[in-house]
Amino acid sequence: MEKEIRTRFAPSPTGYMHIGNLRTALYAYLFAKHNNGKFVLRIEDTDQKRYVEGATEIIYSTLKQTGLIHDEGPDVGGKYGPYIQSERKSIYKEYALKLVESGNAYFCFCGQDEEHTGEEGEQTFGYNRHCRNLSKEEIEKNLSEGKSYVIRQKIPLTGTTTFHDEVYGDITVDNDSLDDQVLLKSDGMPTYNFCNVVDDHLMEISHVMRGKEYISSTPKYQLLYEAFGWEPPKTVHLSVIMGQNADGTVSKLSKRHGAVSFSQLIEEGYLQEAIINYIALLGWSPKQEREVYSLNELIELFDLAGVVKTNAIFDYKKLDWFNAIYINQLSHQQFLDYSKKYIEKLPKYLQDKWDFASTLAQSRINKFSDIPVMFEFLDKYSDFDLSLFENKKNKLDKTGSLEILQDMLTILNETQDWSNENLNTVIANYTTLKEYKIGKTMWPIRIAVTGQTVTPGGGAEMLYLLGKDESIRRILTSINRLKNCI
Ligand code: GLU
Repeated sequence: MEKEIRTRFAPSPTGYMHIGNLRTALYAYLFAKHNNGKFVLRIEDTDQKRYVEGATEIIYSTLKQTGLIHDEGPDVGGKYGPYIQSERKSIYKEYALKLVESGNAYFCFCGQDEEHTGEEGEQTFGYNRHCRNLSKEEIEKNLSEGKSYVIRQKIPLTGTTTFHDEVYGDITVDNDSLDDQVLLKSDGMPTYNFCNVVDDHLMEISHVMRGKEYISSTPKYQLLYEAFGWEPPKTVHLSVIMGQNADGTVSKLSKRHGAVSFSQLIEEGYLQEAIINYIALLGWSPKQEREVYSLNELIELFDLAGVVKTNAIFDYKKLDWFNAIYINQLSHQQFLDYSKKYIEKLPKYLQDKWDFASTLAQSRINKFSDIPVMFEFLDKYSDFDLSLFENKKNKLDKTGSLEILQDMLTILNETQDWSNENLNTVIANYTTLKEYKIGKTMWPIRIAVTGQTVTPGGGAEMLYLLGKDESIRRILTSINRLKNCI
């Protein structure tokens, strides 16, 4: 029988979900689900210095929100638990001692564990291997005196180590370039570089997806697997997500490029479907022209052959493009629900008419935080250039516009029903009476009340949004200004 595909997402509780981490989780999820396998969540909290209150909840909620549902994990259980590393402390010690016994690790009493602990992704150099060849007696003596110790990996001094990566192929390094890294710290806590190996083995992980920055540590993991006599999981290293700097160069995606955590993007008004869709393609190619995929479609298509080696550049404009598509697909009610917290910055008259104004916004915004900006023009009304009233297409000059505005002023003054529907009817009736084209009547109205040639929605919509008093005031102002200049 084929071995079950088991992937894991192993975040450290750092307090936020970086887009790069979310992509790792997504690929691990997609690969597991594509192969009817299991997706495991493991919390890597052995580095207590980095512990952030509430961080685990952020991990749970992000996975839940994005639909990356784990089959096993601290909150849902599973037969390979505990799934929180700090709860597995005794397991690591037991395995570290096994390595000491088999001659693949050794006690070190040099008191150097804090500055060179071999934390996640970090290369550690510099230990002079002083304790590597202590005699049995010296070790016994130190231990019986209660001297504090760390356990270090005994890296072969010569030869090479090779591992195969599913994306980057065979990678070989000289063993003399590897350090005798700490496996177990003096407080009994394992280093990340040790426990990920023990856990991936005990949890029967078949494929490890992780960032490319871990490639340099993988030979040491490989040596640990060999020392234990375990078959290593397959590795799938993922390219780095870069951000575009102002000067045109690129560097690892960080705060200076914009929002980099899932929650920040959500805050800015990106939809989770759009984020997932976009980051799925940041480092993986479905080899199709098409770009818009649901999570289920991604599961169907995902394969390791499509994972690319080259670093991806996070393009906020492209994310906007995806987001606009997903926003457009929302139902009216969903749009109202999502937009609720973004309309607080809108003036009251727009908030009151949001049910209607939202229909203008839905097809025009890229993200929900665009909403206040989109309607700013209504309040930035000032003495615009009167030549805007001239329009060749509608055969209008200032005098023609003035005439229409004067007629409309009378009609609108008498209009009681200020609904968008009725305003459209009133304007249409006048237009028919005059045997104009509708654009001809709408043009001066739109210019008069907004000072803009392009607005979301037409003249009637603008009248409705602004309300009767303000509309009449603006039309009157425009009439007076036009009269003064003709
Ligand atoms: N805890 C590591 C991190 O958050 C995970 C690395 C791995 O996937 O092995 O970066």
